[in-house]
Amino acid sequence: MNINENYFNLEESYLFSTVAKKVNEFIQNNPDKKVIRLGIGDVTLPLCKAVIEAMHNAVDEMSKKETFRGYGPEQGYDFLREKVQAYYKKRNVELELDEIFISDGAKSDLGNILDLFSKDNVVLVPDPVYPVYVDTNVMAGRKVIFANANEENGFLPLPDNNQKADVIYICSPNNPTGAVYNKEQLKKWVDYAISNNAVILFDAAYECFISDENLPKSIFEIEGAKNCAIEFCSLSKTAGFTGTRCGYTVVPKLLGKLNKFWLRRQTTKFNGVPYIIQRGAEAVFTENGQKEIKENINYYKENAKVISETLDRCNIWHVGGKHSPYIWLKCPNNMKSWEFFDLLLEKIQVVGTPGSGFGKNGEGFFRLTSFGSKENTVEAMKRFEEAFKPLNV
Ligand SMILES: *Cc1c(COP(=O)(O)O)cnc(C)c1O
Repeated sequence: MNINENYFNLEESYLFSTVAKKVNEFIQNNPDKKVIRLGIGDVTLPLCKAVIEAMHNAVDEMSKKETFRGYGPEQGYDFLREKVQAYYKKRNVELELDEIFISDGAKSDLGNILDLFSKDNVVLVPDPVYPVYVDTNVMAGRKVIFANANEENGFLPLPDNNQKADVIYICSPNNPTGAVYNKEQLKKWVDYAISNNAVILFDAAYECFISDENLPKSIFEIEGAKNCAIEFCSLSKTAGFTGTRCGYTVVPKLLGKLNKFWLRRQTTKFNGVPYIIQRGAEAVFTENGQKEIKENINYYKENAKVISETLDRCNIWHVGGKHSPYIWLKCPNNMKSWEFFDLLLEKIQVVGTPGSGFGKNGEGFFRLTSFGSKENTVEAMKRFEEAFKPLNV
């Protein structure tokens, strides 16, 4: 046999392991100091009550012969797909049921969707970005080119007609930067995709963090998007499902064969999300579920506000935070990302994530997250302000 040599081309990511190593070393040498982690990329609040109740009921159903369920439809139960359909309808996006596919999360689908595309396609990925997009394409041997996100464009790159791409990734609100595209900006990407006969893979994992009605939560709010976009969504950050696993992907029929091929791919290689989990996911879309997840999201957003306001007072350039759990800041005094990481750890015992770990344009930037507790976030930002208030910089 010959192995897939493309795996040799993957770059080793030492980002989170190096962060952990440095933090552990510091704690060992300074056992008396309290380290606060604002680098967490995972939710911390538990599943909401509506979800837990629904899953308990589903467990009971599984215990009785009359209500037991075996294999379900690979693309998800109708009860959940109907809820997703209604959720889109609230934003005036009309979807047919068989355009919605339930999955075990966005990460799997973002990787698996590549089964549908030729190896010869050129892939355009923003830099910096969620590493999954690049790595899944490198594994398949595809050529990856980058769209530069930077301070000048507010980390929201727009299409460059000199760049020719077939598959385009967009993540809005973005991980790691927290930046969000408005409708005019997304329209430019849709127009570019249509005129290049390209497809947009739109990652909407953080849509629930958008609170401004004028900002698009779905690419399908943009005219023409159903002709060129696939959308990936997840309950992970929205409803705390990172360990529970459920998401959904929308493949419009206007994309022609892609809708049929995705169904074929899923029915061949995937056997569906557990019934119990889908009942929990269904509860997210009920009135109570929506109310309860919003409370959790608002908790994170309060933390983001504390971080953002502190950075404002310290005159530190940043994006994100308002419609995202992530705040992306420019390291003060032109420090490099890792230099700033070391300084924060040594001086105020606050841990964040060096921006350089997300791509070359991340150098000199730094990611803080709002997934910590309120107490810790407030304490960390108090220390931050003491250390970086304008007079001291
Ligand atoms: C967390 C995250 C996801 C969600 O992945 P799941 O597999 O659904 O947990 C997707 N995209 C981005 C950019 C993320 O940060």
